[in-house]
Amino acid sequence: MTAYTTDNLPGNLFQLLFEKSPGSVLLKADPPCFTILAVSDDFLKINLASRNEVMGKGFFEAFPENNQGLHGKTTAYDGFMNVVTTGERVYIPFLRYDVLNHETNAFTPHYWRCTNNPILGADNKVAYILKTIIDITGEVNAQHARAESENRLLLAAEATGLAIWDLNLINNDFSFTPQLNDLFGHTPETHLDLKSVRNQIHHDDMRNIVMRAYKESFKTGDYLCEVRIHWPDGSLRWVKTQGKVLFNDDHKPVRMLGTTVDVTESKRDEIRKNDFIAMASHELKTPLTSLKAYLQLLETKLNGATDPFIKTAVVKSGNQVNKMTALIHSFLDISKLEPGKLQLKTQNFDINKLIGESVTESRAVSSTHHLQFKHSGQINVNADREKTGQVISNFISNAIKYSPKGSEICLHSEVADDQVQVSVKDKGMGIKPKDQEKIFQRFYRADEENLKNVSGFGIGLYLSSEIIQRHKGKIWVKSEEGKGSIFYFSLPLSPA
Ligand code: ADP
Repeated sequence: MTAYTTDNLPGNLFQLLFEKSPGSVLLKADPPCFTILAVSDDFLKINLASRNEVMGKGFFEAFPENNQGLHGKTTAYDGFMNVVTTGERVYIPFLRYDVLNHETNAFTPHYWRCTNNPILGADNKVAYILKTIIDITGEVNAQHARAESENRLLLAAEATGLAIWDLNLINNDFSFTPQLNDLFGHTPETHLDLKSVRNQIHHDDMRNIVMRAYKESFKTGDYLCEVRIHWPDGSLRWVKTQGKVLFNDDHKPVRMLGTTVDVTESKRDEIRKNDFIAMASHELKTPLTSLKAYLQLLETKLNGATDPFIKTAVVKSGNQVNKMTALIHSFLDISKLEPGKLQLKTQNFDINKLIGESVTESRAVSSTHHLQFKHSGQINVNADREKTGQVISNFISNAIKYSPKGSEICLHSEVADDQVQVSVKDKGMGIKPKDQEKIFQRFYRADEENLKNVSGFGIGLYLSSEIIQRHKGKIWVKSEEGKGSIFYFSLPLSPA
């Protein structure tokens, strides 16, 4: 390899450089010939030609379009003529020019970006044209593949009734597929925008569900919510929306992409099921109330009786009736979880007093475990007292159910970051990591062999989680299999 310095530069340096440049050919501006004056190796390779064959020939003589598969001589010829007459550069961003594949001996589609640059002579007229071509086949093929996969996605979305949308969080630009018109009860011609779509969302759901889901998604990157929407015909429908948030380098949310689907039918099924549970539970409550009253009467009448069996049998029956009443109440609560049905009656109260009452009540019902609650002073919260009590009792009764008799159950409360945090710790069987997230879902019970003998429906924690979330609090669990669990919830403190 020759090392060139400023002293030994070869006279033909520029010709050498030209021949090594990517896809270039220098033409004389002598229409209609356009004589080839110089050509780069790359250009020759692309056109399967040798320098000797083409030098000094007219461009269209050297590269006859029919042999080379050039799509439209007129485009190339007109391009050159354009440069000559206007003296301006002609840029062709996309040109198909097929190239022979040596292995298959067939022409394969190739795409090029092409520029014809004028070079002016002393008379200020175009004397030469420098043509450069860049192979953009890879780029074009990738674009085709992208468009094809987008098409496939759109078809699949259309077939499943999914609307796909894209929201720019900086300027609120909102684009979506035509299915969104369908889902919101409009004809394809109706113009929808972000505001009109939001206006159709039920007022309560917008405030309680959408806003919360937005806030959450800016933290986690995932958006998920189910809301009621008003159709223009006055009917109420349900849609489920799922999306992903994209963040910039400063972790600022900038874009949201997702899908929306109509879930009215499954929601109506769920509502029908809940209504059925509510009705059945209600019907069961009436005979149970009179059964309980008769048992209480019987207990008083038996006060003087001597037969210990009859006395314990009546007490045990009373306990079973209490259990069943509690179960029926929780079924009734579940049916009240539809939006707008679970109403919170908030008040200021001392949560430590409430925990104390729940502990006393639990001790009275079951004396099998050692319940401990140490606290200092008063912690005031603004919450629904009865429902918060329900959560505490549920934590305690689970701790009793899922830990060995005679073991310790510790309750604790403390203030941290304007919140009160309450915990119930047991030394029981614990929960596998894979179940820890799911136990707060409706009807979920950990899939444990030894759980078969423990009665339950998997609704207590679901209810507790709904109650806490509606107070804008948090509920969670820490647990180690075989060692025990700590269930936590936190609630905002009363404003001072
Ligand atoms: P249930 O106890 O009626 O099944 P819950 O909703 O209260 O319903 O609890 C859901 C599931 O969570 C239980 O079935 C059990 O698998 C698990 N679980 C709850 N509390 C505990 C606990 N203290 N220790 C171990 N597992 C628990």
